[in-house]
Amino acid sequence: MSAAESPERKPGVRGFFANALRPKKSRQTLRKKTPVDGALGVEEVPAVPKLAPLEAHREKVRAAGVHIDTQRGENLDYTTILHKLGLNEPFDQDDSHHDFEHDNRPPGEPAVASLSSELWGCIVQYLNPRDAASLALASRTLYMRLGWLPFQILDLEENYQYKIEFLLFLDRRFPHHLLCFPCAKYHRRTQEGNERLRPADVLNPLFNCPHARNPLRPQPRHRITHNYVMPFSFVQLAMRAHRLGPRYGLSADSLCRRWKRNNWSFTTRYLIHKGHLLMRVTAQTYADPGLAPAAQRLLLYSRDDYWPYFSACAHWRDGELMNVCKCALTHVPIPRDTAGLQGLEHRMKDILAASSTQGSSSSHMITGCGKCRPKRRCPDCPTEYLVEIKLTEDRSQIKNVRFRHAIVVTRWSDLGDGTAPMSPEWAACNGYGPGYDSFATMGNRAISGIFESAFTSDTIPGQRVISLNPKGVKKGEAGNDWY
Ligand SMILES: [Zn+2]
Ligand SMILES: [Zn+2]
Ligand SMILES: [Zn+2]
Repeated sequence: MSAAESPERKPGVRGFFANALRPKKSRQTLRKKTPVDGALGVEEVPAVPKLAPLEAHREKVRAAGVHIDTQRGENLDYTTILHKLGLNEPFDQDDSHHDFEHDNRPPGEPAVASLSSELWGCIVQYLNPRDAASLALASRTLYMRLGWLPFQILDLEENYQYKIEFLLFLDRRFPHHLLCFPCAKYHRRTQEGNERLRPADVLNPLFNCPHARNPLRPQPRHRITHNYVMPFSFVQLAMRAHRLGPRYGLSADSLCRRWKRNNWSFTTRYLIHKGHLLMRVTAQTYADPGLAPAAQRLLLYSRDDYWPYFSACAHWRDGELMNVCKCALTHVPIPRDTAGLQGLEHRMKDILAASSTQGSSSSHMITGCGKCRPKRRCPDCPTEYLVEIKLTEDRSQIKNVRFRHAIVVTRWSDLGDGTAPMSPEWAACNGYGPGYDSFATMGNRAISGIFESAFTSDTIPGQRVISLNPKGVKKGEAGNDWY
């Protein structure tokens, strides 16, 4: 018998501590007695009741017929209400056992066990590696029959795609982890709940990955602008939180950012629509009237990598995007002479116009021509563009607020469902994967329309969306027109 259970008190210092740490009598009564071998007689086992206590209670209430208020339909049975709170309505989304609670099918284990390992081995040969491993993981009996072999086959290099699909099934079970695609493994989230999008030159790992610095196995990412990328992990986090619950990731709103770089200012906003993450990037810079072609290029292209400063999909070199921007720049009006009395009048008109259109994109906009005014949709990925010239306030000089025209390039993209970088939309936006026909896939409903109608209560008039690359010429960097 241990000291804790001995009824007599011990003398001395050790005895003092032994007595002080001894559990109270009141606690001992709640503790389950460990059966001593052979000591438990048949008489001591209480008879098993025919029904569980809760079920017995429910029967009693049902028989009495008073559990529902006849007038208001409220449940008057408080025992059931309390049990429902605890059992039937999970507070925790991860409680996957609730899925099986209402499964009334007879147990299949004996039927599974009745087939030999050899027979199960034959059955598995008809399945692909992903389904074979899922079958082996389905129950303990199946695992005993199939063994470790399905998992070894799944782990082979050539079965990478199957392994990713298998691991995606387990996403619900790993709220504290994130699936790493270069490794095909779940890594522990090191900044759980505090993940923040940062510029590309800031080291910001979300987990410790052995391939973090391996240029041959880069993490999937999408270029938003120069020095700003969207790592796929953030799309994963946003979509996991949307599908499974907040502790699995981040809200789409927490991805929104504003920043300035190279005289351009950028704003990103995100929206989840029908299980897809939609992104809007607005890029804006002041544009002077009458720019020469060289000055237009200086305004539009980054000197570092000869990409446009504004956000563009992987197919920006093909088609009309850059020509549309250059065309829009030719519509910047020459400023009116603001000296003298007539100038003051013009200035007042500008102030009134700008203040009445603040925050909206309506009237005081320079309407371009038929080439640069319509929205453009990239035929090869779910991306749309709109190029506008707007009158804006230049507050760079504190004393002297000026009105200047700015070119605003807005891009809307569908970044896909966030399950894997192989998802069609993500792959198309990054310019890889099988061909994507955006006009056939999206039809008449524009991403820009879906996006804007989610944030404004007014109905936005339908606008013509035309192809960014009407001729369908795909030369990429080899083409001559993009610069
Ligand atoms: Zn990794
Ligand atoms: Zn034009
Ligand atoms: Zn594209």
